[in-house]
Amino acid sequence: MEGKRFNNNRNSGRGNFGGGRNNFDRGPREMHKATCAECKKECEVPFKPTEGRDVFCRDCFNKRQ
Ligand SMILES: [Zn+2]
Repeated sequence: MEGKRFNNNRNSGRGNFGGGRNNFDRGPREMHKATCAECKKECEVPFKPTEGRDVFCRDCFNKRQ
């Protein structure tokens, strides 16, 4: 009758959520061509350049920090 069907989940230790590898693995990133707003050199950036926003090549970007 009163089968001991308690949820023993609580203490089962390791949360085994295998999933959840975030997508941020450093794999080959998609690069986008852009023109550096500082030195006007053509460069590639790992994000999609937003129109109207300045894009900087690596050098200039580092300089500005
Ligand atoms: Zn530059």
